[in-house]
Amino acid sequence: MKIAMIGSGYVGLVSGACFADFGHEVVCVDKDESKIARLHANIMPIYEPGLDALVKTNVDAGRLSFSTNVTEAVKGCDAVFIAVGTPSRRGDGHADLSYVYAAAEELARAIDPRTVVVTKSTVPVGTGDEVERIIRETSPDLDFAVVSNPEFLREGAAIGDFKRPDRIVVGSDVEWARDVMRAVYRPLFLNESPLLFTSRRSSELIKYAANAFLATKITFINEMADLCEKLGANVQDVSRGIGLDNRIGSKFLHAGPGYGGSCFPKDTLALLKTAQDHETPVRVVEAVVQANDLRKRAMGRKIITALGGDVRGLKIGLLGLTFKPNTDDMRDAPSIAIVQTLLDAGAIVHAHDPEGMEEAAKILPEVIMADSAYSAAQDAHAVALITEWDAYRALDLKKLHAAMAGDVLVDLRNIYRPEDTAAAGFKYVSVGR
Ligand code: NAD
Repeated sequence: MKIAMIGSGYVGLVSGACFADFGHEVVCVDKDESKIARLHANIMPIYEPGLDALVKTNVDAGRLSFSTNVTEAVKGCDAVFIAVGTPSRRGDGHADLSYVYAAAEELARAIDPRTVVVTKSTVPVGTGDEVERIIRETSPDLDFAVVSNPEFLREGAAIGDFKRPDRIVVGSDVEWARDVMRAVYRPLFLNESPLLFTSRRSSELIKYAANAFLATKITFINEMADLCEKLGANVQDVSRGIGLDNRIGSKFLHAGPGYGGSCFPKDTLALLKTAQDHETPVRVVEAVVQANDLRKRAMGRKIITALGGDVRGLKIGLLGLTFKPNTDDMRDAPSIAIVQTLLDAGAIVHAHDPEGMEEAAKILPEVIMADSAYSAAQDAHAVALITEWDAYRALDLKKLHAAMAGDVLVDLRNIYRPEDTAAAGFKYVSVGR
């Protein structure tokens, strides 16, 4: 199959490289010229484990190329994927669909007959109808189909997730378009990843419902963690105890500083807006969004409380800034609100992150970046672990303690055992234990 990917970010680039690896001929397009120039030089615009090697292999094999020219890229394609961003619209929290519609307008003039236009971006229900209308308005006689195919990959594990998904959802009632999608994904369902065909609207909603459900699980266990702290229970035991029930499942039950990232915050908000617009409020999700928003600053206050309540002039070292490990993505990371809370209280914040410091420095200019965990801890009154990078799982706690001016260790990911931190001389605070 010949495939074009419009948008070469976390989703477009990974999907494009994986499709090429399946044997398809793929062009990844982006309007950001510097991104495409870097890709031509085999420099990845994002940090994603394994991506550089996958891209290089497929470029060398002649299956993967990059372009800034949509019109040329989509010529002769069987399927053109829209994988542009759908951030929260400023002011009201609706999904900003301007990039999707701009891409649709470009495609309207450029695609060949019998092309399947596939919306991979996360878009509210009804967006596929609008993409179809935009293309039809420009090219009334063109035979084409607009299909929804939401993406469920996780940053940091994106290649594995794309190649071994739990399911592939395809929303379309058009039989020939379903056939094209079957051919595009054939290498995957040979590996037994189920291909679920639904209507376009159901497919669009599946993505939001999935993210809202996962965000609910996280928020639920975070609230249980707060309750554990008051009741003298241990949230890790509670999590294990409920997660072993197959109806619940153990994933997404790790207490922490609240969910962040480029998807859950904006997608839960967009779902709320869709529900409100249709006068069918989704109150569980409303509560999740509010609880998670409040939690991030509460985690900043937790660090302040661990230091006795007054941090003016004190140095605090943060370990991890990205919203999760194995990515450089800082979009809506909980660290942003935590840093703000600490700065508001007069603290001096130093931080280290294995991959995220360049992105973080753009958003958090007041934070002093350190070249290692130990230098972030140097002369600090407290160290707070925000993101559970592997590099922080086996720190030399005695060395960390010796570098510091104080003795407070706040572990917002529960990766250390209280007895080990006590043995190293720390006053240790974690979440829900
Ligand atoms: P991103 O911001 O990393 O990438 C989007 C890219 O699209 C940018 O490089 C931008 O320059 C490009 N672009 C915008 N308009 C364009 C146009 N008209 N022509 C060509 N290129 C254009 O975004 P992302 O994280 O890859 O997310 C893309 C979509 O996938 C979003 O809807 C998101 O919600 C969804 N999604 C993301 C993830 C994730 O983990 N990041 C997972 C599942 C779904």
